[in-house]
Amino acid sequence: MVLDCRAAAARVLAGVMNGQSLNQALPPQQGRVAGRDRALLQELCYGSLRHWPRLAGLAGQLLDKPLRDKDRDVFALILVGLYQLAVTRVPDHAAVAATVGATRALNKGWARGLVNALLRRYQRERDALEGALDPAARAAQPPWLYRQLQDQWGEATDAIAAAGNSRPPMVLRVNLARIPRAQYRQQLAEAGIASTPGDLAASALYLERAVDVGELPGFAEGLASVQDEAAQLAAELLDCRAGDRVLDACAAPGGKTCHILERNPRPAALVAMEVDPERAARIRDNLRRLELDAEVVVADAAHPPADLEPASFDRILVDAPCSATGVIRRHPDIKLLRRESDIGQLAGQQAAILDGLWPLLKPGGQLLYVTCSILEAENSAVVTDFIGRRNDARLDPIAVPWGEARPGGRQLLPREGGPDGLFFARLLRGDG
Ligand code: SAM
Repeated sequence: MVLDCRAAAARVLAGVMNGQSLNQALPPQQGRVAGRDRALLQELCYGSLRHWPRLAGLAGQLLDKPLRDKDRDVFALILVGLYQLAVTRVPDHAAVAATVGATRALNKGWARGLVNALLRRYQRERDALEGALDPAARAAQPPWLYRQLQDQWGEATDAIAAAGNSRPPMVLRVNLARIPRAQYRQQLAEAGIASTPGDLAASALYLERAVDVGELPGFAEGLASVQDEAAQLAAELLDCRAGDRVLDACAAPGGKTCHILERNPRPAALVAMEVDPERAARIRDNLRRLELDAEVVVADAAHPPADLEPASFDRILVDAPCSATGVIRRHPDIKLLRRESDIGQLAGQQAAILDGLWPLLKPGGQLLYVTCSILEAENSAVVTDFIGRRNDARLDPIAVPWGEARPGGRQLLPREGGPDGLFFARLLRGDG
């Protein structure tokens, strides 16, 4: 039987409250709602998570006592209702009626009166309730993250938070090996898809509205790929030359691997390494679609396979696993799932990956370290600690007109309607 869209959203969000990622919790419910409701289900789930700390703060004020753990779906439904009232343009009466109606689909008919009363009270007391939120909740950030943003970014915190709460733009990377950006933009326009060139990356086009990739001219033939503008800067900064041996060490799903090859189809070798075999398969899919060639290796970059010879690569890209705090708008479940204690663990992994890969770099070679984090502990601190441990590593300053110079590299902060938040550091290997 087809499931009510708001009830499905509540189930997805209860799954995330129970520790599932959105990628795990959403697909099963997508299959249960009517086809016409799928986009709305996605919007309710992503949107509610982007604003979760604020909505949970409001619900906390509205509820006399917390709901029981087995009623997390009801709590999530209340947040879905508040999301519609507080953030979206769904007319209030329709939002309340549909959300209250969803209690039945959840088999929680007892909660009908409760959900109705809470949402109506929010409508009446909106200003007072919003005014009583603490600053982190008002900015819709987990308290630990808000604190770190304030410590590190001061006055920019609110703009960073707003970017993280916004709907991300859909950005294309035009395959410049096949077609100039202006010409592809023209093809998009002819297909009724308006776009604007990015200011930072030569291949970036921002779409005015998100579309299914099937609607993009020449997508299956590899004329364009979906990739944020910030991510497109990595291959530009790595700037491989013909004949280079290149290692892309944390490669799946292969966005940057393919971009490196689109820019430079004649490296002596490109090895795309990835620890997760299922994700490695996605590198192969992308290479196939774009008709590109790389050697895909499933391995742990912290302990590279012995058959990769020491000092054999001219360029190494390390797109390290990280907190993803710079792309939180694309992965808003991070607001519930990420813990402050994860950051130190991630920094440890990042350091181990740098230590594992460094011996593979030729003297005179370059390693580009990239994260989609905006936290110093995963960025400058990892890089400066690493340089402090080695006598053959030095920082090559990245002189570009974008981003902020940091002690260990360059930070691009996320911007509403603009790029994701990524960190870049270029390290040169000396003779030691
Ligand atoms: N570079 C990719 C792209 O542009 O499409 C995105 C990479 S994503 C930020 C980080 C990747 O590193 C994930 O696919 C993750 O599975 C992988 N990873 C995590 N730890 C790793 C390790 N120790 N060795 C190799 N890959 C690892």
